[in-house]
Amino acid sequence: MDGELAVIGLGTVGSMALWRATRRPGVRAGEVVGFEARTPGHNRSAVGGDTRLFRMTYRRGPRYAPLLERANVLWPELEAETGQEILTRCGGVYIGERDGAYLPELIATAKENGTPIEILEHDELAARYPQHGLRPDDCAVFDPRAGFLRTDRAVLAATEAAREAGASLVEDTAIDEIHEEPDGVVLRSGASSWRFERVIVTAGGWSGQLLPPPLAAAVHPRRNYLTWFVARRPEEFAPERFPVFGRIERDRSLYGAPSTDGVTVKATLDGRSQPAEDADRVVRELTDEEITEAQETVAEFLPGLIPRIVRADAYPDLFTEDHAPLLGTVPGRSRTVFATGFSGAGFKMAPASAEAAIAIAFGEPATEVTGFEPTRFTGRLPHIRASSTASRRS
Ligand SMILES: Cc1cc2nc3c(=O)[nH]c(=O)nc-3n(C[C@H](O)[C@H](O)[C@H](O)COP(=O)(O)OP(=O)(O)OC[C@H]3O[C@@H](n4cnc5c(N)ncnc54)[C@H](O)[C@@H]3O)c2cc1C
Repeated sequence: MDGELAVIGLGTVGSMALWRATRRPGVRAGEVVGFEARTPGHNRSAVGGDTRLFRMTYRRGPRYAPLLERANVLWPELEAETGQEILTRCGGVYIGERDGAYLPELIATAKENGTPIEILEHDELAARYPQHGLRPDDCAVFDPRAGFLRTDRAVLAATEAAREAGASLVEDTAIDEIHEEPDGVVLRSGASSWRFERVIVTAGGWSGQLLPPPLAAAVHPRRNYLTWFVARRPEEFAPERFPVFGRIERDRSLYGAPSTDGVTVKATLDGRSQPAEDADRVVRELTDEEITEAQETVAEFLPGLIPRIVRADAYPDLFTEDHAPLLGTVPGRSRTVFATGFSGAGFKMAPASAEAAIAIAFGEPATEVTGFEPTRFTGRLPHIRASSTASRRS
């Protein structure tokens, strides 16, 4: 055996898995090994783009609440352990029409979960956050625990904390084969191979190449782009005055974060991800249509920004058919845990997803992953052989 636990892919979730594994009672930290095809937190992964929104109000349904609540505890824990500022809690404001499709669902989910929120009627919203160009029917939900996460800092804080505890990192090494046997899991990269007691697959947009066929058929990498604009008065968009926001109207949508550099503001059209042929070949340039729509939306929604994109980029993430992650094992492969397919939403809950994956790897029940079991996709094929080999990376 080369170790007790291997983590494949040290991006968002893999870095958290490495860190949480070294904190788990009973795990020998010196026997935890992370493999990364490039370097941890490299900016061609879903870590790219500086920040991600953290929010406790979530319209994808109540099943995310346990992961969000746990992540809400674990991010500050990572900060306390490493002395790094990772989560800036500037609050979150979610804007839409009073009776539209967005806010009623958000309010209903928050009520169901007992998530503290504040409802801001139109005039109060206009007074508190004059940066938003409102329509007459607009009101908002305020999430006091929301904020933004510093992505690359988070990943490096977690991998360094794990390394200091004794974990090993194997960089520039893409695992191209996973072969589960009754008493261990063999990993191969080119001519090298390793054997571990258990493995967690956190390869993000690339995971499809390491999944058994029925799961591989249910996932696909998608291109997600981000755009940044210059603020006319940057102080109005500082974290103390401008919470993260999401806004969905009948005809337009936008989300973003306050300025982190005192100049630019991230403001991006919502829900615009598109299929990518390959996570390594995501088109980084925006089309003329994407540029025009983003600039027109910013001109209406955030008049304090100059409506010209000054920075844009695109990154891969792995989406599942139902846009819920894969968190768990499949029949016949109990030593290989999948924690992938976060479908454009996985950063905020990454440490909690990672912790749940570790619990599953060590044979413990993880109630917070109910509804995310990979078996929801394996039911459609007769079975997966215990010794099945993942498809080789091309
Ligand atoms: C533009 C954009 C905006 C987003 N906004 C938000 C947001 O505001 N809030 C939020 O919560 N979520 C958001 N998300 C989603 C979130 O960022 C992702 O769901 C999450 O980062 C995915 O993490 P991951 O660990 O699955 O993948 P990644 O972070 O991409 O990590 C995968 C890692 O695996 C490595 N790897 C791949 N193959 C192999 C291999 N064979 N062997 C070894 N290593 C390998 C890769 O090099 C990479 O480092 C956004 C995503 C994008 C792209």
